[in-house]
Formats: sequence, structure tokens, C-alpha cells
Amino acid sequence: MIIVLKQGVEEYRVDELKAWIKDKGLSINPIYGTEKTVLGIVGDTSILSISEVEMHDAVEKVLKVQEPFKKANRKFHPENTIIKIGDLEIGGKELAIIAGPCSVESEEQIIEIAQKVKKAGANMLRGGAFKPRTSPYSFQGLKTEGLKLLKKASEITGLPIVSEITNINHIDVFVEYVDLIQVGTRNMQNFELLKELGKIDKPVLLKRGFSNTLEELLMACEYIMNEGNQNIILCERGIRTFETFTRNTLDLSAVPALKRLSHLPVVVDPSHGCGMAWMVEPLAKAAIAVGADGVIIEVHNNPAKALSDGPQSITPAEFSYLMPKLKEFAALNDRHISISHTVAYAGTPGSFANEAAEKAFPNSAITGFEHFEDVFDAVLKGRAEIGIVPYENSLAGKVNEVVETLKDHKFEIVDRIKIKINQMLVAPSGTELSSIRKIYSHPKALQQCKKFLSSIPNCKIIPYSTTSAAAAAVAALNDQCSAAIASKTAAKLYRLEILKENIQDAEENYTEFVIFRAKNNK
Ligand code: PEP
Ligand code: MN
Repeated sequence: MIIVLKQGVEEYRVDELKAWIKDKGLSINPIYGTEKTVLGIVGDTSILSISEVEMHDAVEKVLKVQEPFKKANRKFHPENTIIKIGDLEIGGKELAIIAGPCSVESEEQIIEIAQKVKKAGANMLRGGAFKPRTSPYSFQGLKTEGLKLLKKASEITGLPIVSEITNINHIDVFVEYVDLIQVGTRNMQNFELLKELGKIDKPVLLKRGFSNTLEELLMACEYIMNEGNQNIILCERGIRTFETFTRNTLDLSAVPALKRLSHLPVVVDPSHGCGMAWMVEPLAKAAIAVGADGVIIEVHNNPAKALSDGPQSITPAEFSYLMPKLKEFAALNDRHISISHTVAYAGTPGSFANEAAEKAFPNSAITGFEHFEDVFDAVLKGRAEIGIVPYENSLAGKVNEVVETLKDHKFEIVDRIKIKINQMLVAPSGTELSSIRKIYSHPKALQQCKKFLSSIPNCKIIPYSTTSAAAAAVAALNDQCSAAIASKTAAKLYRLEILKENIQDAEENYTEFVIFRAKNNK
């Protein structure tokens, strides 16, 4: 039941009303809005008659709350709740970008990932230390040691941390080390754990159970809130359906539904939602489009070797490539992601341009754009201070498009960097060289490998926007007759096998990249 109080009513009349309600064994949740004050009444309100309450001097009107969840209900708290974690406010205009590995595996691993995701724009670090694995024979996490390593990564980067709790006895250690306590899908209805988490004031990230309804999620939330802790963030992470292509079915309708039913922030976990690294990008975009207050994304420095959830983890490079795209989606919904992309390069993660950008600017936020025009545009519009584009290759000559654009008086070249180019023939594992019928790559890379290509009979050559995009396409095709010409890094990134190394026509093969900025942007 919700009691809306009259505006400007004397304090003593409100106290009288509260005492009368409390006498009946009900509890009161006052919410002070900008215009009105309402009292949320929790307990068996059937003992109160609406007309009797309405007769009280302090009361303007009485509303019945039909739903079984009360404190999480938007009717109790019409305004959005904002959860503060350090400087971060979740549920406001700024989106929560939570990134990190499924499991903390070592000090070097968590610190490297933390630094990279921070540079790319994450505002919170994730990492599992107590892992609830389906098999008892799988890696179970570094436990308290893992939490200590997370804390260390947090101290180095300034990122707050979230980690999953699985046992009521660990609450003290979680309160000591983490900023946000995650309750995972398998524990959403561990009511004893929820009640204990209600007695502390550390924020809780409550994930939806994989077979639970939204009402059950909100009732689980009620278990925590009813004990006092109101700092809860809800999380949609995919549910079990008859579909088996994806690991789970990400229920994006949960976001607008939960935002309507409840005042609490809602974030989306696209990684567990689909179980496949390549699907994280479209689902993260969709999550932001449907109004999520943030995303939680698994990022691993070497997904192929990850101790848990490697297939759904994206690399730090892929994450940095995704962030500016998410920022644009956020802006369409009047939301914000703070990232400063100071360096824009023409290429995708794993491309030689990515390597050149990392080498020239090891400590900057760098962002890849698939097309040259987008790099020039980003620099002109001030979205990036610096641009890096390939200018000339020792075997294939100048990149005419770039040479022409840089003649424009709007740009000035500030530096150049040369990278040794070793081209690899890469394909999904198990592909035989003799079965290859199509080879994808950037025209300049194809040109650098003319001799090798002429040695492959009956093969169609397909030009592609970048070498790494060609590698990504071949990985997605996975048809045992397509290959790409790309770098070793791209092969690793897209989990492709190297069928033949150094296939460029000459051992000495270099590309010169130019580093430029806009003339009025000194
Ligand atoms: C996780 O975040 O790594 C995890 C185990 O999540 P979920 O509970 O959603 O499976
Ligand atoms: Mn995981």
C-alpha cells in the first residue's frame, strides 16, 4: 500500500499516522520526493481499510500495490534510484561499463586487463575469484587471493571492482575487498545469502536466475531490500530456452520491463547472454538501445587459454574497438560513456595499423576505424587528436587515397613510423592448403603476396577492407575452403591457424604509417 501525504501537512500529524500504522505491526518506508512525500507500507496490509486510512488528516490518497514486490516497486519510489560506487553513479546519465575476465587467473593477467580496459573506457573492473562452475573438475577460482589481486588492480587503475559471492561465510571478506558484490545466476534464489546481504550496505549486483521470471528476480531483490540494503543493481544475463545455438537467450525485453516495474538500475551481460565472443558487440549495442544502465563484458588477454569462459571473452583490443561504437549508441538514447579517444587508426584490432598505433602511442586511448575516411573524419571533428594511416608499402607502393587526402590543407603530418610486415595465410583450424578456393585480404596485402598467390591454383582472390577484417570474416565463415592473408596477431585474435608464414614476395617488407592531426588542433 502507498499513502500519499498532503503537501505541507504538519509533522505531528504524520507522526500520529505512522504510530497508528506501526501499532498494527506494519513497517513504513518513507520516500521524500521533490513534490510529494509518500509512505510505502509493507506487511499484511489487508488489515488496513483504504477508507479508514484516507480519513486521516495527513493523507491525500491511498494506492494499493498489487504486485508482491514492494520496495523494489517503482510505485514505491517513482524516481530512478542511482547507486553510487566511488565516483561512479549507476542509473544516471553515465553508463556503467564493467569489463574484465571471467576469472582472476594471476596478478599479471588481472593488472594487464585492468589497465587496458580502463584505457579503453571501462569504469569498473570485473573478475571472478570464487567460481560457481558446472563441473567440480573445472577451475574453481583463486578465492581470497583472487580478491586481493583484484584489489591491487583497483588500486593501480582506480577502477572499482565487482566479484561474485557464493557463500554466506565470505561476506566479511567481500565487504573488505570489493566495491560491488555480485550474486550470480545460480544463487539468485539463495534466500539465506540474500537476507544476509540485506544486512550490510555494500551495493549488490543481482543477476537474474537462468530459469527465473522477472517477478521472481524482483522478489529475490525484495529479500535483500527488506533487511535494509537498498543498493541493488539488477542484471539480465540470459535465460534458458529451447534454443541451443546460443549459450543462453538474452532477454532484452527484461530491460524495459524491469525499468517500468522497478526504480532500480538494470545492466546487461551480453557475454553470458550468448556465450560467443563475436555476438557480444551487437548484443551490447542492443542492450544500450533498449535502455540498459550499463553493460558487463568479459574481456580476456588470451581467450584461447582462459581458465573459464574463453569462447565468450573478447580481447582488450576488441573491447577498445567496441567502446566508441557503444558511445554513439548511448548518445542516441541521451546517455553517455566517457572515453577520450585521442588516437584513431585505420584498421581493426589485429591489423598492422593497430600494431603501429600501439607502438607509437603505448599509453594512450587508441581506437580503430575500419575505413580511412572515418579516421580523417574523427580527427577533423575532434573525436581524436591524432590519426594514424598507412602511407606507403615497400612492395605495394603508396596508398593513393591517403596520399590524396593528406594533401588537403586541413591536415598536417607530425610523424612517421615504419612497421615490418610479415603476411600469413590463416584459416580455421583443420583447413588444408590444398582445399583452399578463396583468399580474402586487403588489396595491398594481396599485392605483396603476388608470387605466393600465383602458386595456388583455382583460387578466387577477394579484396577486403582490412587484413584483420578479412581474418574475422574467414573465422565467421569457417567453411574449410576460405583463408585470409593477415598478421600473426590477427590469427591469434580470431583463433585461426597459420597455414603458411611470411608469404610476402620479399623478406624485407615494410609499411610506413603517417601520424597526423588537424591543422587547427595544435
Ligand atoms: C560470471 O559473471 O562469470 C558468472 C558466472 O555469471 P552468471 O552468474 O551470470 O553465470
Ligand atoms: Mn563467466
